[in-house]
Amino acid sequence: MKAIKIKLKYGLNTNPKTKSISGTSRQSSSKGSVTNYHVRKTATGNEPGTAKRPTQAETHRKESQRVTRTSRAVTFNTDVRTGNVIKDKWKLPTQRTEPASGLRGCNAAHEGQQLVNEVLRVPVDMLFDMLFSGTSKFVERLHAKRNSTDLRLGIWKVNRDGLLTRELQVTVQLQASVGPKCARVTEYYTQRSCCKPGFLYSIDVKSVNAGIPYEDAFYVAIHYCMLRTADNNTELKVFAEVKFVKSTWAVIQMFIQKHAYEGLHEYFSDLLQELLIEIASPQRQDILNTDRSLRICK
Ligand SMILES: [Zn+2]
Repeated sequence: MKAIKIKLKYGLNTNPKTKSISGTSRQSSSKGSVTNYHVRKTATGNEPGTAKRPTQAETHRKESQRVTRTSRAVTFNTDVRTGNVIKDKWKLPTQRTEPASGLRGCNAAHEGQQLVNEVLRVPVDMLFDMLFSGTSKFVERLHAKRNSTDLRLGIWKVNRDGLLTRELQVTVQLQASVGPKCARVTEYYTQRSCCKPGFLYSIDVKSVNAGIPYEDAFYVAIHYCMLRTADNNTELKVFAEVKFVKSTWAVIQMFIQKHAYEGLHEYFSDLLQELLIEIASPQRQDILNTDRSLRICK
């Protein structure tokens, strides 16, 4: 009798208020197909066979609008192996990704979301100086445009493992309508052993936040891959992943991931936009032309 009641409750009632998974439904999931059907329905949010799927044209139009709104130059949420767009913006890839072509020689795992995938018309050593030099005017301008303050650029030093490391500190503005309005960010940079100046820079960044809720529960791991192309330009790829260092409720993790990835997408969109402006500037073009002339003379 009890089983019949369960079937009626979960099999026929379409009131959304009764669709959430309860303890009763989980416990009885193996007792009958009706309860299993309920679980499937809850997982997808739609009844089997009746889910309204967008047409291919609709999906393509929505993706195009989303990318165009943010930045034409940035490739967001793409699977490294296939190049396909990941539909759920905040969902992390569940499989470890394999190095794509263009990442040859880099020994990193390339995990997490791919935030940047661009070929820039600038030599790889020059791009390294722009992004990672301890005296980079480009980084200073980028943070100034983002209204960040108290920027401290560290210089590269050799650590006990023989790897080059540096630190960067900056206070960034937060866009959230509630909560703190700024956060102190410390970034720890490490050049991987596979780096070959002139050809490949492989840099890991551990980004730690202070002054925000759950600041000690997580950090953000960022990986930069900069590879020289055959025509002396640079292929820039950036990956990022939120790493949790303390056990935290799933709902809190989702909250942290959502806001962290929002911040990352926003930052790298700004960074790429500023890079393109910088590379196209007359001053930078003069430097590039001089560099090309010297290369031809050699
Ligand atoms: Zn890499």
